[in-house]
Amino acid sequence: MRITVLAGGVGGSRFVRGVREECARRDPDASVIVIVNTGDDLWLAGVRLMPDFDSLLYSLAGVNDTERGWGRAGETERVAAELREWGVGWPWFTLGDLDLGTHLARTAWLREGATPSEVAERLQRRWPLGVRLIPATDTEVDTCVEVPDPETPHSTRELHFQEWWTRYRATLPAIAFRQRNIDRARPAPGVVEAITDADLVLFAPSNPVVSIGTILAVPGIRDAIATTSAPVIGVSPIIGGKVVRGMADACLPVIGVDTSADAVGLHYGSRRSGGLLDGWLVDETDAAAVGPLEEAGLLAASVPLWMRDLETSAALAGAAIDLGDVVRSRPA
Ligand code: GDP
Ligand code: CA
Repeated sequence: MRITVLAGGVGGSRFVRGVREECARRDPDASVIVIVNTGDDLWLAGVRLMPDFDSLLYSLAGVNDTERGWGRAGETERVAAELREWGVGWPWFTLGDLDLGTHLARTAWLREGATPSEVAERLQRRWPLGVRLIPATDTEVDTCVEVPDPETPHSTRELHFQEWWTRYRATLPAIAFRQRNIDRARPAPGVVEAITDADLVLFAPSNPVVSIGTILAVPGIRDAIATTSAPVIGVSPIIGGKVVRGMADACLPVIGVDTSADAVGLHYGSRRSGGLLDGWLVDETDAAAVGPLEEAGLLAASVPLWMRDLETSAALAGAAIDLGDVVRSRPA
């Protein structure tokens, strides 16, 4: 069984840990490839950050800070304090010392001419992750957010997504999200093959706009998903009309999608009518959405979607794999 997962950082990490665990139980020969969002990546203090990639890397390696929910366990911030003294970087964006080690290694390899996906390959050699992480694209497609300019009435300005998200906690009303260079971006080597050669493609319950949305915006990826012979199953990041963790509800209205499990499923759409999904998992509290989703051509099921620990993550991954089997056994 070859499983390919599209994923962002925090929701993505929890889900991928479940997929890895469930695969180990069901089929030790299974291989898992994760196509990672690169829209949150940025240059800061002279180094390249890849926040979603690093969240997956640290979490799958078991070196992540489970209390804070991001970064490395046992982190210190001596270098960040020095950078603040020098006025380098963003004072509201802490770069931990261990984390900076990763950023320095990455930047050194980039400066030597390696591509981001080659760097990603080297970074994950350090720990046996049990899955392969591939950045969606080697092109820098950093997401920008257009917001009202507080200084000039009736005009707008652009912030890097990380500034909007971390400094302003997504409270400045977003007018639009734009991925730089996206029209010229190409899927990183192996990405299209991972989708077309898969036995199952999964959308993690990641942010539909700035995580999954950015991956899908890389020209070539959407087509690969639309045409793969593998079932494509998604998991809702919305439970009972609310985002589970984080601030993704600040993103959905910008693309005109309601904060509900069925609206997000319908936004991805059914492959039977030009969309991307065969199946969509919603939470038990959203069971009423199953009927309308099926009428729209999506095979839907309601299962517990809260990933509280490895067990609940693995059970959710199992439900997604099972729904893929149902799709496969359906008459075309
Ligand atoms: P980010 O890159 O760190 O923002 O993380 P992702 O894009 O991968 O995931 C963010 C999304 O994960 C949010 O929209 C949350 O609603 C969703 N999420 C987080 N935890 C859970 C969970 O336990 N269950 C489900 N279904 N979704 C979750
Ligand atoms: Ca992210």
